[in-house]
Amino acid sequence: MVYTADDKRYEMMTYRRCGNSGLKLPAISLGLWHNFGGIDKYENGRAMIRRAFDLGITHFDLANNYGPPAGSAEETFGRILQDDMKAYRDEMIISTKAGYYMWPGPYGEWGSKKSLVASLDQSLKRMGLDYVDIYYHHRPDQDTPLEETMSALDLIVRQGKALYVGLSNYSPEMTLEASQILKRLGTPCLIHQPQYSMMGRGPEQGLLQTLENEGIGSIAFSPLHKGILTDRYLYGIAPDSRAAGPSVFMNPNELTEEVIAKVSKLNDLAAERGQKLSQMALAWVLRDGIVTSALIGASKVSQIEDAVGTINNLSFTDEELSHIDAILA
Ligand code: NDP
Repeated sequence: MVYTADDKRYEMMTYRRCGNSGLKLPAISLGLWHNFGGIDKYENGRAMIRRAFDLGITHFDLANNYGPPAGSAEETFGRILQDDMKAYRDEMIISTKAGYYMWPGPYGEWGSKKSLVASLDQSLKRMGLDYVDIYYHHRPDQDTPLEETMSALDLIVRQGKALYVGLSNYSPEMTLEASQILKRLGTPCLIHQPQYSMMGRGPEQGLLQTLENEGIGSIAFSPLHKGILTDRYLYGIAPDSRAAGPSVFMNPNELTEEVIAKVSKLNDLAAERGQKLSQMALAWVLRDGIVTSALIGASKVSQIEDAVGTINNLSFTDEELSHIDAILA
């Protein structure tokens, strides 16, 4: 059936300015790292993208290597764009990345100009797009001069293949250096994509401050700590969960009794706030406006609906924040 987007799609979401740029991102964005690969059911992925868009999620995050197999999430997304979303391209912010291993030989990963330009050309073909909205360098490369990687990002914008550029997994120091190079080149860094959640607080050690100082926005990946900060594992490992599936990025050994005891206490606190734990975890990431968007993953439509429901309550009392810190200490 031909897809027509919900007329009310912009009534449910809030949009936040990304750093000092002119671009606003939805408070909740959807990533296609898991559940959109060649091994996954096309119709499930398609239903999730449609529902997300109907709920005001305008931003979809990919990378060259998402799948499995690598590249297949971009192919799936390209098929969904072709089948359903053609009329809505100008309402969508689509990102992709390069930096992790993608093809054999010296140009298939890291941060040379050769690698970044070739990888984006491949991504555009897989998605059937003329341009992406945001192109990221996916991880820092100690062996390539930062000047070269940043000038590759600048070149790509000047060629019209990306509108904005971003960095992911960069330290505060490298972010500052990269940002200064990009400003000089005339293509300021739009956004940084770090891992950030109640259970993964690395960005509080300098990165968030650097981003604020530089006027760079941020999008927190794995804000649910890959599903641990939900009710998913409170009563064992569900057979359809990431921990039970083939993903090499989620080790069931992470789900120790100690972790589950903490999650259970957080779940009680969320209930007192009238939220699901997943919603409290997203609200926590978005709480003070420093993070532009929470970048979730999902395996079902209902998880996207839960995430969007977060918007109704993003504030915390000081007591609640201290209680969360005490539980996770
Ligand atoms: P999350 O922490 O949001 O985890 C998503 C998983 O949590 C889902 O797949 C689902 O697991 C579970 N979940 C989500 N909502 C609910 C709910 N309401 N109730 C119960 N369980 C729920 O994020 P991801 O780890 O998936 O990462 C999100 C995105 O971040 C990626 O798609 C990618 O775009 C980006 N990313 C970027 C990286 C980088 O290096 N730049 C690295 C990693 C991710 P289940 O499958 O078990 O149902």
